[in-house]
Amino acid sequence: MIIAIKPGVSKDEIKKLITDLENLGVKVDASQGASQIVLGLVGDTTVINDEAVRANHLVERVIRVQEPYKRANRIFHPLDTVLEFKKENAKIGGSSFAVIAGPCSVESREQLVSVAEAVKKSGAAFLRGGAFKPRTSPYSFQGMGCEGIDLLVKAKKESGLPVVTELMEISQLELFEDIDMIQVGARNMQNFNLLKELGRSKKPILLKRGMASTMTELLMAAEYIMAGGNSQIVLCERGIRGFDNFTRNILDLAVIPALKKKTHLPVIVDPSHATGLSWMVPAMSKAAIAAGADGIIVEVHNDPEHALCDGEQSLTPDQFDNLMSTLRKYAEIEGKII
Ligand code: PEP
Ligand code: MN
Repeated sequence: MIIAIKPGVSKDEIKKLITDLENLGVKVDASQGASQIVLGLVGDTTVINDEAVRANHLVERVIRVQEPYKRANRIFHPLDTVLEFKKENAKIGGSSFAVIAGPCSVESREQLVSVAEAVKKSGAAFLRGGAFKPRTSPYSFQGMGCEGIDLLVKAKKESGLPVVTELMEISQLELFEDIDMIQVGARNMQNFNLLKELGRSKKPILLKRGMASTMTELLMAAEYIMAGGNSQIVLCERGIRGFDNFTRNILDLAVIPALKKKTHLPVIVDPSHATGLSWMVPAMSKAAIAAGADGIIVEVHNDPEHALCDGEQSLTPDQFDNLMSTLRKYAEIEGKII
């Protein structure tokens, strides 16, 4: 971090500022320019609050050289983080390409069992399904709640697939004991109290990018969880808001290589919520592999036309099976194993 001091500030004032900064644990080098003094801060500058430094009456400009996240930063952890699950071959990160598939919402035992069997047969490594649903309208189906969680746990026992489902508030956490990975949805990416609580949990977290969040904000959300002691995090690009509403969201494919460069955490893509249209899901899944993603999370429904949520973007089991055959070839080109 570089701090340019306003011209004309006294030596004593600068000395006091340097001491205050050094008390935060960084080393400060002062250099005299033609008309002003510039401070160079070395060490862990994540502890420095940029805004507070900018607000200091002695300071003219603050330039952050290093990212504000540390634990999520690849600079401090060059090797890829790989999440391992109890089931054999269920991994996210490294050379694996993880496929998470299932309905948007858990609707009934029959529905979940039939989709779980189908996606397993086609080679998915994880089962998804929402029990608590964040819906835009309070009149839309809100999910089966606790009953939905019970059905997911049963489906996990029957299929052997680890399960992923969304947690909407801290009070639900105790219900998630047998859930393998907790999803933090786009709408909760900056629910900092929730992130802090999940930092204290030992469960893997699937952290979805907020629909109007920058890459750095996503990484800072991951940093919240990691700062609490939980580094089992998978990041998910699920489309962001743009001006063109042909697709439900705009899939930011470029964020995948960018995230892979900046962080060691695995990055997956949700082509279903990104496009909102099932016929686009195969193309965007292939694009995700080509862009370097570590996996996808895809919605699959046994009867999309009658789905209680997101039918238009859900693949049928047959369409999913075809997609998996294609993805295996693409994964091989990228040196990934499905
Ligand atoms: C979901 O995965 O079911 C979901 C609601 O996703 P998002 O939070 O990305 O909208
Ligand atoms: Mn959905």
